[in-house]
Amino acid sequence: MNEYDSNRILDLTKKINYTSTKNIEEAECYVLNTCHIREKATDKVYHDIGRVKKEFRCKKKPIVLITGCVAQAEGEILLKKEKYIDAVVGPQSYHEINKIILDIENKQTKINSTEFEVIEKFDRLNLIRNSNSKISSFLTIQEGCDKFCKFCVVPYTRGPEYSRSSSEIISEAKQLVENGSREIILLGQNVNAYNSKNQRLSDLLYSLSKIKDLERIRYTTSHPKDFTNDLIQVHVECNKLMPLLHLPVQSGSTKILQNMNRNHTIEEYLEIIEKLKKKKPSIKFSSDFIIAYPDETIDDFEKTLSLMKQVEFINSYSFIFSARPGTPAANLEKIDEKIAKERLVIFQKAANEIKEKYRKELVNSTASVLFENNTRGPDKYFGRDEYFNSVIVHSNEDLTGKIRKVKIDKCNQNTLFGEVILEDKPKEYAA
Ligand code: SF4
Repeated sequence: MNEYDSNRILDLTKKINYTSTKNIEEAECYVLNTCHIREKATDKVYHDIGRVKKEFRCKKKPIVLITGCVAQAEGEILLKKEKYIDAVVGPQSYHEINKIILDIENKQTKINSTEFEVIEKFDRLNLIRNSNSKISSFLTIQEGCDKFCKFCVVPYTRGPEYSRSSSEIISEAKQLVENGSREIILLGQNVNAYNSKNQRLSDLLYSLSKIKDLERIRYTTSHPKDFTNDLIQVHVECNKLMPLLHLPVQSGSTKILQNMNRNHTIEEYLEIIEKLKKKKPSIKFSSDFIIAYPDETIDDFEKTLSLMKQVEFINSYSFIFSARPGTPAANLEKIDEKIAKERLVIFQKAANEIKEKYRKELVNSTASVLFENNTRGPDKYFGRDEYFNSVIVHSNEDLTGKIRKVKIDKCNQNTLFGEVILEDKPKEYAA
């Protein structure tokens, strides 16, 4: 979501004649868009500011803005501790960025803008065309969260759940496709809680799938609690919806899920997985896991391990529990660090074995790849298959924005390599 926000910040600041630069030393304004989800986020901000200070030691100081969730959560402290920062701007206030920059230019004042003005934000952003022209583009459809999982900062940094109207979303999706995008990844902290005037995520997916030249749709991140049957049905009926579902589970133990306030049992989670597999056998899953959440016993941990083996997630993101300041879980007693690290190692070994087995099975198979760009040399192209696996091929043809069948001939941990299979009539897209 920060990538989407950063692009929109750039679209906004173009209105006051700012543009992006790759040469940091010539910047007149430096925007650091931050994420607060992991530990040490604030330390990274101070470290980055140190780098900017060094860069501009003998030059005119740029305007320095900290945007995003660290600004929201720790803005006042940042402004007090680091005088080099001119303003902190929360994720729901960045539509004000031009006014903030102009105020700093004119009055040399310090600004804290961390109100939750999400409706106003999107009203303002809707007036400005999305200029992103990547082949695969993000599009925020929903923000914030009302679920209050005990470990998570999102409800405090992004605010309550808010869904944009489907007409706004469809209009922005059309802009992206006109710019050249062929894949759109719908974003929301609780994307499947999307609900605007009784339009649910399933309705939106059907509508978006009608956009000509939009070839692929994905969405992230979902909550099991909101995974309704209509959404399962779209996976069956909508060919443009890719067959990889990222469905965070966090733990394989219902006791730990309850402690986390996840509001579902592991049986309910597995029921969703089974329904999807039955109705759409080609579907695969990825997930997020928190290892060594407070009070996790060896029995709880083994349940998480066996869930990984049962579902065979093709990708997983696992971290040892880290307390986020201000969340209820921050006050809970942590599991011994050595035990936590041991559990993470065991878990990640099992996850990697599953991933490796899956990737080896892909060798000699055919994948449908949407190519995004050329990489390291004009004849080497990078794309993603339907399961979001990275694929690299050699080709004399410019493959950017095209979907091609690729015969996979080898893989490493992160990338598949192969060659394009020539079809009789390859599908071409207008640039
Ligand atoms: S549902 Fe997701 S975003 Fe909301 S509190 Fe839980 S982990 Fe955070």
